Amino acid sequence: MKQVYFYDEGDGKNKKLLGGKGAGLCEMTRLKLPVPPGFTITTEVCKKYYENNKKLPKTLMSEIKKNIAKIEKKTGKKWNSKTNPLLVSVRSGAAVSMPGMMDTILNLGLNDDTVNGLAEKSQNPRFAWDSYRRFIQLFGKVVFGVDDTEFDKVLNGAKAKQNVTEDSALNINSLKEIVSQYKKICEKQTGKKFPTDPTQQVELAVKAVFGSWMGERAIVYRERNNITKSIADGTAVNVVSMVFGNIGEDSATGVVFTRNPGDGTKVIYGEYLINAQGEDVVAGVRTGKLVSELKKDMPASYKQLAATCEKLEKHYKEPQDIEFTIEQGTFYLLQTRNAKMNAVGMVKTSVDMVKEKLIDKNKAITRLQAEQLEQLLHRTMDPKEIKNYKSLVKGIAASPGAASGIAVFDVKRATEMGENGVKVILIREETKPEDVPAFFESAGILTSRGGKTSHAAVVARGMGKPCIVGCSNLKIDSEDKQCSVDGTVVHEGDSITIDGSSGIVYIGDIPTIEPKITSDFKQILEWSQKAKLIGVRANADTPDGAKIAREFGGQGIGLCRTERMFNGADRIGLFVDMIMAENIEERSKVLKKLGELQKSDFIEILKAMEGYEVTIRLLDPPLHEFLPNPVELAEKIHKLELKNATSEVNEAKIVLKRAKELAEVNPMMGHRGVRVGVTHPEIYEMQIRAVFEALVVLTKKKVKAHPQIMIPQISSIEELNHIKKIYDSIKNEVETKHKMKLKINFGTMIEVVRAALTANELATTAEFFSFGTNDLTQGTFSFSREDVEGKFLPEYMEKELLERNPFQSIDENGVGSLIKMGIASGRKVRKNMEIGICGEHGGDPSSIKFCHAEGLSYVSASPHRIPIAVVAAAQAAIEQPKKGKSKRK
Ligand code: PEP
Ligand code: MG
Repeated sequence: MKQVYFYDEGDGKNKKLLGGKGAGLCEMTRLKLPVPPGFTITTEVCKKYYENNKKLPKTLMSEIKKNIAKIEKKTGKKWNSKTNPLLVSVRSGAAVSMPGMMDTILNLGLNDDTVNGLAEKSQNPRFAWDSYRRFIQLFGKVVFGVDDTEFDKVLNGAKAKQNVTEDSALNINSLKEIVSQYKKICEKQTGKKFPTDPTQQVELAVKAVFGSWMGERAIVYRERNNITKSIADGTAVNVVSMVFGNIGEDSATGVVFTRNPGDGTKVIYGEYLINAQGEDVVAGVRTGKLVSELKKDMPASYKQLAATCEKLEKHYKEPQDIEFTIEQGTFYLLQTRNAKMNAVGMVKTSVDMVKEKLIDKNKAITRLQAEQLEQLLHRTMDPKEIKNYKSLVKGIAASPGAASGIAVFDVKRATEMGENGVKVILIREETKPEDVPAFFESAGILTSRGGKTSHAAVVARGMGKPCIVGCSNLKIDSEDKQCSVDGTVVHEGDSITIDGSSGIVYIGDIPTIEPKITSDFKQILEWSQKAKLIGVRANADTPDGAKIAREFGGQGIGLCRTERMFNGADRIGLFVDMIMAENIEERSKVLKKLGELQKSDFIEILKAMEGYEVTIRLLDPPLHEFLPNPVELAEKIHKLELKNATSEVNEAKIVLKRAKELAEVNPMMGHRGVRVGVTHPEIYEMQIRAVFEALVVLTKKKVKAHPQIMIPQISSIEELNHIKKIYDSIKNEVETKHKMKLKINFGTMIEVVRAALTANELATTAEFFSFGTNDLTQGTFSFSREDVEGKFLPEYMEKELLERNPFQSIDENGVGSLIKMGIASGRKVRKNMEIGICGEHGGDPSSIKFCHAEGLSYVSASPHRIPIAVVAAAQAAIEQPKKGKSKRK
């Protein structure tokens, strides 16, 4: 097995083997772009390393040595030379980019001899010693696990002693002293001499980079981003000859995007630093200069950069994220990868690249991550409200969207509070990769240092979290848990709002408003609507929900949960009265009032969805859910007794008795859905009548209403036929009363396992099916949908017993098999039967692709997810051209 690829041996195709970085460097070498010579150790070697109990394959070091010899030849430099030493960087690079999650070592190859060679060759001893101290620090941290603060103490001590504030002002003697102290720190940690042999240094560095694949932050990142083994399994390691951006004022290093990743506009976007090494830009230690200034600083290099951006975009047909270094006027490329952009940027570049004829419409749709579009549906601050709040400070707008929450200055605390549902804004001077878990739990991120390509900015943007960086006027005191600007102090726990689009921080919790869909997004949705074959409907139970869904492109309602209508403030009392009614007369009176309310709701919803199907599901949850909690009620009774409120006590006791009668040990599998319809037919009668009556009103007004009635929790044809009789008699009653024929389809949910297994029988009565995959998943796994996500499911995923949360993405092998069975049985009886899905999975892109492939008529998703569903449905149609021929509804 070939373990090592020199950059002229590979190409950009095999990212799984060479990692994204390795593949990019190979491809750029092939394109004859100025890449420093180097090679990639494959991800297969990383896998071997773990299979071998963390040992490198025996033949690896000899292959590495051969390739180092090749670098020597290409660069003219010599490994471990006292006169012209070859130094390398050792960098991680998995199949998908995991920015900052794994380790990198620079300046490797330095020791007490080679440092003199570097000093002589560069004619810059200060640079050589500065490189040496950087090397020991990184090597010590990555390979030996030394805490950064140990090194910082020495560095700060040296600066104080020399009475300077900037690292760059340290003189050679100080640097030499720092090097000696740093080595001692490492030796104290390991109990061994600091390794001087560059080959041994490489070996240790390669092992450390492989080790970082299983580091905590890398694992968390993969989990959160659903990076499964099938996407990336192990990291590759890149060993690249060093080029120096820190060799003097004619050297620089920078990170740019070929288009603005925040809004997609076509400008080279990013930062650079003169006389600096790459890590300085990425870590945000020094705030970089805007790349437009490079035009003045180094015009020839800027020209080369611009030409390179153009060439790479044309080649990859994607905006790129590029790292470059200028060493004494010579331009080098150190990395290229597809730019991670926020959703605004992705959507705009999709539309622009079609206009530029770089890609076609299909590519414009498939290159988007449907899930990421959620960001476009992010809230912004209510402009009418902003004037009522004081702005605190302005920083660099790094990731758009507004977020409010309480100020927290500590990563651990932010993580804990976020996990407990508190909205938190994480405030730090700068962030490091190990802080990423707190990003997931925070509503937004604010830093006082760093630029648009700093760690905080890049990570937040990738996650779609609002973020402001480089807020230099903000004085942060993490010890005292506060920050201040010109005397205004924000303590931990105070509310603030950050606007990641303008960079402004406000004091207080500013109300936010719904986002508007941009014209570019509208264009993508228009193309997607045309491309998709499967229907996209909404789960909506209010007229407002129906209107939003329609505006977002929803074509119908796949699930209207009627019980939600009973929960309104003006109805819950009536519904309780209905449950408590002692005789049929009393109950009928209340039901009549409830029927009127339902009818008017149905009218409004059907009007909002005129022309489209609206599937109205009859009552599902158990009745006790509408009564007060027995424990709370008992407490209330106790308090009333103390006040001697006798009549209220008696009333409450009756309710308590009924609540206890109705209580169940396992209500999710209890007296709910059709089972309530069987034991309390008057409720279903009232609901069916309300739907028919609503249709009468709308038909008379010539509104094109298409209600359908759907029965929940059906497990047998007997149950379904039982309700069908009620439906038939009400239909007859209303038709006779109004002397008109009314068409309302009668169908069933398939959400009980037995229903899927007997779908052939159900289809003899049901005119349509809708898969309730929430309950179907619950039943298939015997996982309580109420509990498992907060209990053992995360551990199941961590231990890879489950690849994905089955309540979020359809479990294709299990639940999916039941769905396939249900579709086949149903359509055997009714050839073109309408079959949809209305569980939460209906808004999940990967589940939508499954539904498309299996020939479902439509998916139904919550109103805000409709645009995501539309794009995912279009992607499915484009990616699986053989799976569908004509439009489904
Ligand atoms: C389902 O079970 O998937 C469903 C849509 O119904 P509910 O979530 O209301 O139980
Ligand atoms: Mg259900």
